[in-house]
Amino acid sequence: MKLFLTIFLSICILSFHSFAQETKEYYFKFNITSRSELDVITDIISIDNVLHNEVFAYALHHELDEFQKLGYKIEFIERDVPKSLTMATTVAEMNNWDRYPTYEVYRQMMKNYESDYPAICKLDSIGTTNDGRQLYVLNISDNVGLEENEPEFFYTSTIHGDETTGYIMLLRLVDSLLSNYNTEADIKYIVDEINLFINPNANPDGTYNGGNNTVSGAIRSNGYADLNRDYPDPRIGANSPYQLETQAMMNFAEDHHFIMSANFHGGAAVMNYPWDTWYTSENLHADTEWFEQVCTDYVTTARIIYANYMNSITSDGVTHGATWYKIGGGRQDHMNFWHQCREVTIEISDSKLLA
Ligand SMILES: [Zn+2]
Repeated sequence: MKLFLTIFLSICILSFHSFAQETKEYYFKFNITSRSELDVITDIISIDNVLHNEVFAYALHHELDEFQKLGYKIEFIERDVPKSLTMATTVAEMNNWDRYPTYEVYRQMMKNYESDYPAICKLDSIGTTNDGRQLYVLNISDNVGLEENEPEFFYTSTIHGDETTGYIMLLRLVDSLLSNYNTEADIKYIVDEINLFINPNANPDGTYNGGNNTVSGAIRSNGYADLNRDYPDPRIGANSPYQLETQAMMNFAEDHHFIMSANFHGGAAVMNYPWDTWYTSENLHADTEWFEQVCTDYVTTARIIYANYMNSITSDGVTHGATWYKIGGGRQDHMNFWHQCREVTIEISDSKLLA
């Protein structure tokens, strides 16, 4: 009996140990001498930014082990987590948009949107995460739930769990669309003519890694993989088995015909368009001029409010994905290549976790 108990306890400790190792996420920087080195590196670790020859990246334990075989001298970086992150513990506390919702407040907000505006808003969950959280999507349109001859747009944020600015901004977008529908002609036009789908948080396990009541322990991955390196890639091919979040998004995209979508990130401020997996010299996207125009329109409009917005990566606030840095398995390329959906990546704020 004692032997069995010892074995049982050993298994528990070992499995806890491997779990703890896997959820540990390392953030570090290193220098390269040539951009071409990134072609190999990007398939091993998760590059987050490249400024001249300095590379900033994240890695899970097994990825770091493999990367270190390449012999780069790495310097670990302290995460930029604000000292005081104020959480809203009731829906009412979200009224001024100056707090993060606890997971339960987020759930309640999403349910309230549907119950307060049943004619134009419908809540759905497209999947459940490893930790049992929901991947919520709100459908907003006139005659919601009815198949109409309208284009479908999709907005999603925070596939990197610690990039939370877009999470709050999409909740606020939902709130603005719904509460102004009957009073603002422009908003009524958008809601009436477009079938909108909004997913404020695509990686709640990453955002609420520190528990449902705080975002201060937020991490990039879902605990197991960088979800924005997890999709089938037109250059690399399939990547199965997929994370639950990835599979849910792939099924969701399959069930719809999105013609445009935006995926919000943080940690930089720039509009990023396809391809992420190919340099322009390898494969130029047929809609490159259109992407340049749409992205430029966005930046120009945003700069009416804040003249210095989106100038940390390029002066015009727009970049082709791989020209900044190449990645494989990103959702932008997946949506463009397999779903003919013109998706862009909007890096919305230089700081990931705003205080
Ligand atoms: Zn990101």
